[in-house]
Formats: sequence, C-alpha cells, structure tokens
Amino acid sequence: MTQDHVSNDALHRRGLMFILSSPSGAGKTTIARKLLEAEPELGLSVSATTRPIRPGEIDGRDYHFISQAEFDRMVDTNEFYEWAHVFGNSYGTPKGQIRTGLKLGQDFLFDIDWQGTQQLHQKAEADVVRVFILPPSLDELRRRLEGRGTDSQEVIGARMARAQAEISHWDAYDYVVVNDDVETCFEKVRQILAAERMRRKRQTGLIDFVRQLTRD
Ligand code: ADP
Ligand code: 5GP
Repeated sequence: MTQDHVSNDALHRRGLMFILSSPSGAGKTTIARKLLEAEPELGLSVSATTRPIRPGEIDGRDYHFISQAEFDRMVDTNEFYEWAHVFGNSYGTPKGQIRTGLKLGQDFLFDIDWQGTQQLHQKAEADVVRVFILPPSLDELRRRLEGRGTDSQEVIGARMARAQAEISHWDAYDYVVVNDDVETCFEKVRQILAAERMRRKRQTGLIDFVRQLTRD
C-alpha cells in the first residue's frame, strides 16, 4: 500500500447493537445462528444472570453467572443497559464489554424481546438497529413450534397466545422481515447489517479521510 492510499485505521467505524426479536417460533434463533457463523465481526451480547448455571452452560459464554448482591450492586451503579426479573431471577445486559467493543468497531447481536429492545433503544439510540422477524402465517408459526419438538402442547398453546401480543409491537422496530424461506430471510437480515455498518455516522474515520482527500 502506498502513502496515497487510506489505511484501515483512517476508515475506522463504530460498532453497532443489532437487535433481533420475534414471536417465539418465528425463527429468530435460526437466523441469529446463521448470522454469527457468517459474520466474524458480530459477537453475541452475554447477559448477566442470578439464576443457577445449567448443565452444559459455560460461565462467560452463555451468561455471566453472578450473585444477587453483585447484580443489585450493578443496578445501583448503573452498569446495565437494561435489566429485568424473569421467572424469579434477574437478568441484565452489562455495559462494560459492549462499550469497549463498540469503540473498536465490534458489532453485538442481541436476542431480546420488545421490552428489552425499548430499554436498550432509550439508552443507546444511536448505536441500536432493531429488526423484527415475522412468521408468514399463524398456522405456519404453530407448525414450526410443533416441528421444533421442544415444547409440550400446553406450552405451544401459551406461546401461540403470546405471539399475537408480541406481533402487535411490530411498529417499534426499524426493519420487519417475514421469515418465509429461511435463506431469503437470512440474506435480507444480512443486507440490513451490511447497510447499517456503512451509515455515515458510524464511519468515525471519515472526517479525517475527507479532510485528507480534499487537501491532496
Ligand atoms: P425462535 O428462536 O424465534 O423461537 P427458532 O429459530 O427456534 O425460533 O425456529 C422455530 C422452528 O422453526 C425451528 O425448528 C426451526 O428449524 C424452524 N424454522 C425456522 N425458520 C424456518 C423457515 N423459514 N421455514 C421453516 N422452518 C423454519
Ligand atoms: P433462560 O434462563 O431460559 O436462559 O432465560 C429466561 C428468559 O430471560 C428468556 O426469556 C430470555 O430472553 C430472558 N433474558 C435473558 N437475558 C436477558 C437480559 O439480558 N435482559 C432481559 N431483559 N431478559 C433476558
């Protein structure tokens, strides 16, 4: 590379917080896995929780497993972007690792519901991109929940009942993608990520680059 060319540092960009939400069964986990495989600069945000570790889980990979006292201290010192009590335990998104990563140009994927999305958006609007995944129909949603084979009929019934309420929040998102064919949906979500990475406001090296360009 000659001195006439811009270095990668000069075109440094700020990372983003990429939120994927969907009614349960619409395919959020499937799309999230494919994205993480395909996009090395995308890391999964690791939440903190007070619930006990389950067999097969790894501290620091699946969650940061912490005590209630430590969780309460982090709430008091404003160390979470958002937090909630779910099924008797506390869960939260710690700011530390994400703040550092964003500055270095790392992107983070969030697999959270619409309430968490709202909180995160309030705290970090400029860095947040919100994507909502819809099923092609409620019949297909039920087929997917049944086909996944992880839930009883009772749980599937409860998820279907909740789905209507979750879908009603579709207009709180920046992008809405229907997951009919999984590859097509994945490509669309990937294109959203690619375009959002190129937003002018995230290209923090541009000012210097353009200054240099116009001086030459
Ligand atoms: P969520 O994380 O939104 O609850 P999952 O990703 O677990 O949903 O998907 C639910 C089920 O539907 C899984 O068995 C998955 O393999 C299947 N699935 C996901 N996307 C599609 C699709 N486009 N077409 C058919 N089946 C799909
Ligand atoms: P689990 O204990 O089964 O891993 O998760 C239980 C619930 O907690 C899930 O609905 C999950 O989405 C939610 N959850 C996990 N991490 C967070 C978080 O950081 N913030 C919020 N608000 N909810 C979370």
